[in-house]
Amino acid sequence: MSQAPDFPGLKRRELLAGLGAAAVSGLAAGAEPLQEAQVQAWDISTDVLVAGSGSAGASAAIEARQAGADVLLIESLPHFGGSSAMSAGVVYAGAGTALQRALGVADSVEAMSSFIIGAGGPHPPLDKIQLYCEQSPAHFGWLVAQGVPYAEKLSTAMTVPTDGESLYFSGAERAWPGRDLAVPAPRGHVPVARGMTGGRVLMEALLARLDVLGVVRRAGVAGQRLVLAGDGRALGMEVNMAGERKTIRARRGVVLASGGFIHNREMVRNYAPRLYDCSVPWGNMGDQGMGINMGIAAGAAALRMAQGFAIVPLYPPESVLSGIVVNASGQRFVAEDTYYGVLGDAIAYHQQGRAWLITGEGSHLPPQQDNFPLVAEANTIGDLAVKLDFPRGALQHSVAYYNRHAENGTDPMFHKSAPFLRPVQGPPYRAWNLAVDQAFVPVHTFGGLHTTVDGQVLNSFGEAIPGLYAAGRTAAGLPGAPYIASGLSVGDCTFFGRRAGLAAAAQGASA
Ligand SMILES: Cc1cc2nc3c(=O)[nH]c(=O)nc-3n(C[C@H](O)[C@H](O)[C@H](O)COP(=O)(O)OP(=O)(O)OC[C@H]3O[C@@H](n4cnc5c(N)ncnc54)[C@H](O)[C@@H]3O)c2cc1C
Repeated sequence: MSQAPDFPGLKRRELLAGLGAAAVSGLAAGAEPLQEAQVQAWDISTDVLVAGSGSAGASAAIEARQAGADVLLIESLPHFGGSSAMSAGVVYAGAGTALQRALGVADSVEAMSSFIIGAGGPHPPLDKIQLYCEQSPAHFGWLVAQGVPYAEKLSTAMTVPTDGESLYFSGAERAWPGRDLAVPAPRGHVPVARGMTGGRVLMEALLARLDVLGVVRRAGVAGQRLVLAGDGRALGMEVNMAGERKTIRARRGVVLASGGFIHNREMVRNYAPRLYDCSVPWGNMGDQGMGINMGIAAGAAALRMAQGFAIVPLYPPESVLSGIVVNASGQRFVAEDTYYGVLGDAIAYHQQGRAWLITGEGSHLPPQQDNFPLVAEANTIGDLAVKLDFPRGALQHSVAYYNRHAENGTDPMFHKSAPFLRPVQGPPYRAWNLAVDQAFVPVHTFGGLHTTVDGQVLNSFGEAIPGLYAAGRTAAGLPGAPYIASGLSVGDCTFFGRRAGLAAAAQGASA
């Protein structure tokens, strides 16, 4: 038998206790599944159990119930709706939705999928993208049928409309390279709402629908760990209900729809270190990764865990986009007029989280904003560069090169769109800090469980874990890094949530 090594100052018993603690402090600690034999009696039974009441969970519950299953939806927080209810409620839809057609917008499956595939990150989930685009008009119809209100009004602004418009360009479609991939079409579908409360309106409609259909929903019930049969099938879940441990039997299936993990700082640090320093973890407090961890603990694979949405919301006003964004070498690296998720991605993932907006006359940020600190001001670009401690001559070179081409209406490096292409000219020159840990940079996660297009959770061998489904930010879906358009997340949650609920309900009840 091997001896524990001696460590000066540590007694053998303390050392072993320490080693034991390390062994159980894994990222998914506490989510280890229960075996069926450990459950003496089930406290509650249903056909389909949905864990999480955001847009993914609600959509899953609606479809499962309509397919004839008894459905219980649990929510760990005291209120329903998750991050979905906090959101602007934008759903990325296209290929000729009723709203697009009513507003005379031409779009197609090919244009929509070319944009999503071409503008996003490498090796996207092609099967999910294809299905999502093909069925986008029908999915939008489903949202309308659930009672989500939309108005036949189009906005051409770059930000979520707040004046009653329900359709806008919500992503990088009009910026380079998006506009070269497909004819740009507005695909951001926004519920009619006051201000940015579209998510609340969307969730009110979906939650009301649950009640009409007879889905049982319970708040303050947190899923803790799955219960598995000897063959690995998910049979149900152990939950924390008002401080008591209870077991819920799910005869047909369990749907994990418990959001992402941006508020589980240990998970973010380990899985998505580029997001860890971003200043504003964005999402409801239920984003603790519990659904993902329950899945991992039951043998599921997790994909794209490092990816997320880092937002650098430079605009409005859109006039600032005629400034230039540079890195610590004083060089441009992105088309400034791109979607703010693409800009945030470029900074967080590709520039070690550091960048500056350089403005001249006519392109300054408004004086009253405090999202992006003003860190230097000078009468010449050279003096500004000295204050920023950039490599000698680099910023002067970047500005001179950019200005020379901007005067001729071109941007050979990043093809900034014509309306924003103006030389950076006229003092005072200013530098605004876009560093992810110092500026206002909201962030949330996209990595999650590996699923089929029907939400079936897969293990690392590509085999389905029977009875286990996942959707929304608990699953790895359409959104990735870079995040190319608002609405891809809630669009993905509702679309694939529905499919997960249907697939779970379609399972024969297990004994
Ligand atoms: C301010 C803001 C604006 C946004 N705007 C948009 C937008 O307009 N369009 C867009 O596409 N995206 C938007 N997003 C992102 C989007 O809201 C989320 O990615 C999406 O809503 C996630 O939905 P979900 O159903 O996966 O999770 P959620 O909506 O977060 O729902 C998951 C629920 O599960 C609960 N839960 C967690 N663990 C457990 C457990 N163990 N047991 C039971 N319940 C549990 C959580 O409390 C939560 O209520 C925005 C995000 C924010 C913060």
